[in-house]
Amino acid sequence: MDKQLKLVIVEDVDTDAELLAWYLARGGLDCLIHRVQTEPDFISALHDIGPDLILSDFSLPQFDGLRALEIAAQQVPETPFLFVSGTIGEERAINALRRGATDYILKSNLSRLAAAVERALREAALKAGQRHSEQQLRSSEQQLRATVETSQDWIWETDVHGRFRYCSAAVATMLGYQPDALIGQDFRKYLDDDERVAATFLLPAEGQLHLTGAVARWRGADGQLRWLERNVVTILDESGQATGFRGADRDITLRRDQDLRLRRLTRTYRMLSSTSSAILRLRNRGELLDEVCRIAVQQGGYDRIMVSLIDPGTEILRPRAGAGTGSVPLHALAAVGVAERAMRQRAPAVFNDLTSERHTLAHTEVLLAHGYPAVAALPLLVDGTIIGVITLFSAQCNVFDEAEIGVLLELTANLGFALQYLEKDEAVHFLSYFDSLTGLAKRPLFCQRLTTRTAASVGRNFLVIAFDLQKLGAINDSFGRYVGDRLIEKVAARLKAACPDPECLAHLGGGTFAMVLDATGAAAANAGSEASAGDTGRLSQNVVSRLFVEPFEIDGEALRLAIRSGIALYPSDGDTADALVQNAEAALKAAREDSESYVLYGMVTQRPTTRSLALEARLAGALERGEFLLHYQPKISIASGAVEGFEALLRWQDSQDGLVPPSLFVPLLERSGAIVEVGEWVLLQAARDLRRWTASGSAHFRVAVNVSPLQLRRRDFVERVMRCIEPNKQPAGVDIEITESMLMQDIELSIGKLAELRAAGIGVAIDDFGTGYSSLRLLGRLPVNTLKIDRSFVQSMVDAPKNLTLVSTIVSLARAFGMQTVAEGVETAEQLQLLQQVGCDQAQGFLFARPAPSSEVPAVLARLSPQSPSRPRAAIAERPH
Ligand code: C2E
Ligand code: CA
Ligand code: CA
Repeated sequence: MDKQLKLVIVEDVDTDAELLAWYLARGGLDCLIHRVQTEPDFISALHDIGPDLILSDFSLPQFDGLRALEIAAQQVPETPFLFVSGTIGEERAINALRRGATDYILKSNLSRLAAAVERALREAALKAGQRHSEQQLRSSEQQLRATVETSQDWIWETDVHGRFRYCSAAVATMLGYQPDALIGQDFRKYLDDDERVAATFLLPAEGQLHLTGAVARWRGADGQLRWLERNVVTILDESGQATGFRGADRDITLRRDQDLRLRRLTRTYRMLSSTSSAILRLRNRGELLDEVCRIAVQQGGYDRIMVSLIDPGTEILRPRAGAGTGSVPLHALAAVGVAERAMRQRAPAVFNDLTSERHTLAHTEVLLAHGYPAVAALPLLVDGTIIGVITLFSAQCNVFDEAEIGVLLELTANLGFALQYLEKDEAVHFLSYFDSLTGLAKRPLFCQRLTTRTAASVGRNFLVIAFDLQKLGAINDSFGRYVGDRLIEKVAARLKAACPDPECLAHLGGGTFAMVLDATGAAAANAGSEASAGDTGRLSQNVVSRLFVEPFEIDGEALRLAIRSGIALYPSDGDTADALVQNAEAALKAAREDSESYVLYGMVTQRPTTRSLALEARLAGALERGEFLLHYQPKISIASGAVEGFEALLRWQDSQDGLVPPSLFVPLLERSGAIVEVGEWVLLQAARDLRRWTASGSAHFRVAVNVSPLQLRRRDFVERVMRCIEPNKQPAGVDIEITESMLMQDIELSIGKLAELRAAGIGVAIDDFGTGYSSLRLLGRLPVNTLKIDRSFVQSMVDAPKNLTLVSTIVSLARAFGMQTVAEGVETAEQLQLLQQVGCDQAQGFLFARPAPSSEVPAVLARLSPQSPSRPRAAIAERPH
């Protein structure tokens, strides 16, 4: 040993003490020796020196070796204590060792001393080490125990049969059982019924040492079910025999619920989006409901679905569509009354667990017998009115949580919108076929009916008479539009009363009506003989004007009206419905111009006015002479107020009449076919102007060009357009506008051509939308990205709620088809405000700017910039708050 040893020696004889020191030194031990002879000295030496070892004689005059041993055992139990004695009997030696002495050495044999000391020290060191590790073990055991007891996991130990030997405190919070109460009990007792079958999977199999991640459903002390996941090890004895199991269970109820809920929600969202696409695809109520049912079962994972609609007559809810597994007929499911409940409370009726819930549903046996313990009914609302209920049945409890119901409500709202919109499709259809003021057929329907008539009336002549109210303009001006409208209503009522066949009447717009009269009949009624065309005209005029002899009473005032008419005879003045109506109108126009009470179309064609002839002649050379120019009118984003585009409008600078509006010369160009060439010049010029603005840095907008049906009809239409606007040359910002009626003429051909333009980045707008034949059904198929709502709707929506509904429907439909909407002819802040409210995208009209020459475009842009104080705003924004 290289360390100096501190020794206390209890010895009264000096020489003996010296001898001990000598033997120790001889044994190679470096010792610091402190000798004592009395008890007090011994005690203080233990304290002061803290000896590594004690050597003691047995008997001393003032002290006793055994007493010293006693003191040492008490005060320094770890310090080795060796007796060194002259004589020591067997008995005394054993007694000494029993009392704790480490060893004894006879004075006669001191050569052993050093080795004995060394051994004692070694053993002491070993013991001290053991003690230390024992202590450490104890404290770590305490720690482990604390960990186990405070762990959120339930830590347990069972015997080989699964009876608890130990349970940590966590089981109390997890399942509500006191740990002590479980000791000796089989764990299977606490599993939920269904799970007992699977209980064999909850311990390591024979010969297996581990089991990880086994999940089981347990029933807590309060009856609540919890999902626990466990890890288990097999406890083995020394011979490798299993003596029990130790494991930890973790409560995963929340995580599992969330997982399931998430998975459910994902399915429900998928169902929502499939429903939305069905809504856009299907135009038939029955088909749509069937498809929604199919989606709910196949994608939503519901076991059964039933859609019931309220019978408008009886107000009774009747099942209309259904899907899913199960043999119960829909009416039996309906009898349970869940749907009725949702209908009554106008809110979802949800039952998540009919087996245990204290619910107030009467006939649940049907549902339980067929395995639907959970059911939810959601009202189908259309425009705030309940029209039906969707009922969903599930074989799993608790599927209808808040999030699920949230998505389902979104789904029913979409479906409600779709049904409403299918209904409005019919309404819009009605409005585009019938005039909303008079309820009479508009031109498209009138022409359709006339077409049927032309096909049927071989050999029977008839005529179309178009007439208007002579003083309507004056009445509007002096009494207001309201009186004018009432008057038109009264006229319509009188016409309907007089005309036995309502199919023979039309309201062509404004104060203009049309009627079909039997030519032979009209003539025969008067003269009883073969009549000339002139007679027929006069007689027809009489038939109609007779209806206006009686004055019309408006607000107590009697108004006398006279009519003016234009007449077209079938077949001489046209053999198609369109031609007849158009020619009757042309004749009416001639009557107005010439202040005649009636004009026959035949007379118009025979005597074209010298003025119109001269105009046509000058128009022929207008393109070569460079007399055409473009005016531009901005389109404004209703949301931001920014200018997003301009429409190019054709003007003719006539040498005689000055600037001529297109309504006067475009029809002439169309008649001569020159519109094709002029239309190309418009495209070319618009693209040129746009390129110039872009180069100067002011163009962040598109330019739309109006295209005539004659242009569209050409086989090479697409190439011609491309050649003019050269979309490859920057910028490709030219769009086209096509009026609704012309689009529908050759629908299949039009679709192909327009799709090509769209593919080249050219926008296509339907102009004057709402006035033509277009069925909303067709909208989805048209390669069109913008609808321009006709000026007549924009202007009438302020006073006719029906027209506002129509505008709002057009806007929401357009959105459903991914198109944007532009309102034409916006003249007042009030109109703008309503358009803003219904969500229309762009506005165009005199409120912002009149069409102006291209040179003025930068100034228009500056004036309409969002910073400009003179920019028009919706009425609402101008009112003080
Ligand atoms: P459109 O395409 O519906 O053009 C809009 C017409 O409404 C323009 O008449 C415009 O001046 C007018 N307008 C704009 N804002 C308002 C407003 O707030 N109130 C009122 N009352 N009217 C407004 P414009 O320029 O006389 O053009 C008439 C029609 O001539 C156009 O109707 C379009 O169908 C046709 N047209 C114009 N340029 C061309 C062209 O280059 N090619 C062809 N094929 N047709 C053209
Ligand atoms: Ca237009
Ligand atoms: Ca228009």
